[in-house]
Amino acid sequence: MQTIPYCFGKYTANGWQDAAGETWETFNPACPEEQTGRYTFTSPAELEAVIAAASSAQQAWGALPQIERLAHVSNFVTAIEQRKEEIARAIVLEQGKPLKEALGEVSKSCGEARMMMAFGSQPLGMIMPSARAGWTNSVRYRPLGVVAAITPWNFPVLTPMRKLAPALIFGNAIILKPSEFTPAAACLIASCADDTLPAGVFQLITGDAVIGAQLVSHPQVDGITFTGSVAVGKKIYQQAATHLAKVSLELGGKNAAIIHDYADLQAVIAAVTGAALACSGQRCTSISRVLVQRKHLAAVEAELVKQLSQLVVGNGMTADVSVGPLIHRPHLQKVDEMVRRAISEGARLACGGESTKPGGAEQGFFYLPTLLCDVNSSMEIAREEVFGPVITLQAYDDFDQALAINNSVEYGLTSALFTQDNGLVERFIQGCQSGMIHINHGTVPDNHMPFGGIKASGVGEYSVGPTAFRFYTTEHAVYNRYA
Ligand code: NAD
Repeated sequence: MQTIPYCFGKYTANGWQDAAGETWETFNPACPEEQTGRYTFTSPAELEAVIAAASSAQQAWGALPQIERLAHVSNFVTAIEQRKEEIARAIVLEQGKPLKEALGEVSKSCGEARMMMAFGSQPLGMIMPSARAGWTNSVRYRPLGVVAAITPWNFPVLTPMRKLAPALIFGNAIILKPSEFTPAAACLIASCADDTLPAGVFQLITGDAVIGAQLVSHPQVDGITFTGSVAVGKKIYQQAATHLAKVSLELGGKNAAIIHDYADLQAVIAAVTGAALACSGQRCTSISRVLVQRKHLAAVEAELVKQLSQLVVGNGMTADVSVGPLIHRPHLQKVDEMVRRAISEGARLACGGESTKPGGAEQGFFYLPTLLCDVNSSMEIAREEVFGPVITLQAYDDFDQALAINNSVEYGLTSALFTQDNGLVERFIQGCQSGMIHINHGTVPDNHMPFGGIKASGVGEYSVGPTAFRFYTTEHAVYNRYA
């Protein structure tokens, strides 16, 4: 009988609570005949206990001196760094991305957490001028309380860590519900809390939308940080409204790269394909639309086809693979159906456009890197998130038109402009409707910068960076008239 690599219950204030209750399984998307994990659904009664424990643990954690809290969080991050290889392997086996990307994900998570620690050691609050003699006015920040974190399957470590680090640093207790498709790596992260964090300040519940909805609807949850689809984000916004919980929603994207002109076409296209194909295009920040000045259209198309065709699709555990599988069969079918509909709407397939069966992983959910040309803004493929290895190519005549196409979608997550013309750069920065704006490189964010989107791509504070504390704290205006 096959041994299942990852079997987890819930991680609570009393440690791991295993094996009781109904279970579900996860499978390796590169080799779906291999079972990867088995998990137990969290029951409503267990959730009540977890929330009560979080509430109680937060009192002492929130009262600790900030520098002492930072020492605990630093030990937690060190424990993760020490288990980097093991955690990255769990990401590959359950999510599918190439091992090199998974290792990079763990490193980036820890890098962002360490940057958050640096921000957490900076002054917080303000001494304000007073309006009355003998009074001292100040603005203070205190921990928000109990935070619920709901995360998707594409970054099983990075997304949870973007929530765990700031929540803990600013004195909150956090309850994480990772995606039901990729809980293994998050469970390994929870194991790293064992000897490093006080009991109850970080708990993990396993389950799907049902327990997720119960968590975010609970009146004792003070804040909800969610990353995932727009549809679920809207539901969570409504659920949060029933008890007026604070929300930070990080949602989808339909990100464009505008190629206006270039000195080195090969380098520009390498930056674009890198940002488009990482995680097989299953990133909220993936470039999925390439908008190109008409006179460069033929050259850009040829270079895109060349570079996309050179990518090696296969099992993420194989050394030279650069594009892994999609997460599951329904998603593979969804991507393929969107490509078929684009072709029926008039798009021209330049490469890819079908699933593939790499040697040794014939059952996996692989899709070839795909380029669709002759696309226009009215097509579904140019408006809706594909979340797969698919790029569309659209021509424009002048920069204003490029900006208008960039801004014509409901999303506003990230955009990139490639140009040698510095006169256009400020126009782009002022006019681009995206939360993250890149000039002359792909869409990979730095560890110390705010991360988030506008329009349908996000609501509330961005995660990590110097402003993340705003979500994880409450603000207090203090008037002190000394006796
Ligand atoms: P999803 O929205 O289907 O699920 C995300 C999480 O929400 C899962 O843990 C799921 O169990 C939970 N959930 C579902 N319904 C719920 C409910 N009613 N109440 C509470 N929890 C609920 O997203 P997904 O398919 O896992 O991930 C892909 C999506 O995530 C894409 O749209 C992608 O763009 C987006 N995403 C955004 C970012 C970002 O930072 N902006 C990052 C990664 C992924």
